[in-house]
Amino acid sequence: MECDVLIIGSGPAAWTAAIYTSRARLSTVVAAGSLRFMKGGQLMTTTDVENFPGFPDGILGHELMHKMEVQAQRFGTQVLAIDIDRLEYDKQSPVHFKAAHERGVIQARSVILATGAQANRLPIPGAGDNELWNKGISACAVCDGPLPFFRNQDLAVIGGGDSACEEAHFLTHYAKKVYLIHRRDSLRASKIMAERVKNDPKIEIIYNAEVIEALGKDFLEAIKIKQNGDIITKEVRGLFFAIGHTPLTELVDQMGVEKHSNGYLKTQPDSTKTSIEGLFAAGDVQDFRYRQAVTAAGSGCMAALEAEKYLGNLKAASHSV
Ligand code: NAP
Repeated sequence: MECDVLIIGSGPAAWTAAIYTSRARLSTVVAAGSLRFMKGGQLMTTTDVENFPGFPDGILGHELMHKMEVQAQRFGTQVLAIDIDRLEYDKQSPVHFKAAHERGVIQARSVILATGAQANRLPIPGAGDNELWNKGISACAVCDGPLPFFRNQDLAVIGGGDSACEEAHFLTHYAKKVYLIHRRDSLRASKIMAERVKNDPKIEIIYNAEVIEALGKDFLEAIKIKQNGDIITKEVRGLFFAIGHTPLTELVDQMGVEKHSNGYLKTQPDSTKTSIEGLFAAGDVQDFRYRQAVTAAGSGCMAALEAEKYLGNLKAASHSV
């Protein structure tokens, strides 16, 4: 199979890129994930998405992803439920990219990598997928914090970095009280963010502490915390992990694509171009700052327009030889 654009991933960045490239009449294949990669990305694990423009009453994460997929298919995007096992780049070959999967090989003139990132989670009892995950426990306060059941409740955030401070501060707009639980005796966050949470009367920082269990029947009711050897219980209705994300870059690791020191793919300023010609990165695999569905969609659009331009130049160059 051969295509102009191979898009790897199936979150908002991937579908937006597919809508644009297929509307531009570029043959577009989306490798949407099957076993190793979950189709739909991180939005599949959230419930209501209330901050994606165009849905005044909110929309379920999986419904939003489904609508985007249908929109991409309407313009001719071919969607395959496959995991790409290996991606190779060969500048000498007439078609530069080769993507191997369990059922064959896709040859692509350009690739948009939109594999996203995974929010890190703690494997504590009670917080598993079939336990209280998404029932009061989340890894995105900005996405889930404003939901009605968190309003005027006591909530907790785990972490001591900028994300944890930002999320704790964000939650104070809705919560009665926010516990910021950090494993060390000082915050890692930038000074300004740390000062903001320290000075916020609604935030109580619990240092040298780790959450060891989430308790509740159908929804989170309390957490157990180990602090300096003591076990304490706090009644909270929300628990938010803010302990970092891991970008899903393994497909391009062996290609030597440039990365930031934190592991995220490096793109040129105001662009989705990576250090390999014809390989574009969109969404959370290259964004450790905003990480929102709408910003991912925006960068998917950028990647599509840049891929279109790249393919136009490639065609022009081959005609002039
Ligand atoms: P981060 O800086 O890596 O912080 C992660 C935090 O989680 C750390 O405090 C770490 O503790 C804690 N942690 C990690 N694993 C843990 C575990 N197993 N158990 C308990 N705690 C654990 O990640 P981030 O806050 O997501 O920030 C990522 C990057 O984005 C940073 O460069 C940050 O500056 C940037 N960012 C910027 C903004 C902004 O400018 N507005 C907002 C958000 C993020 P330790 O401190 O002990 O390691």
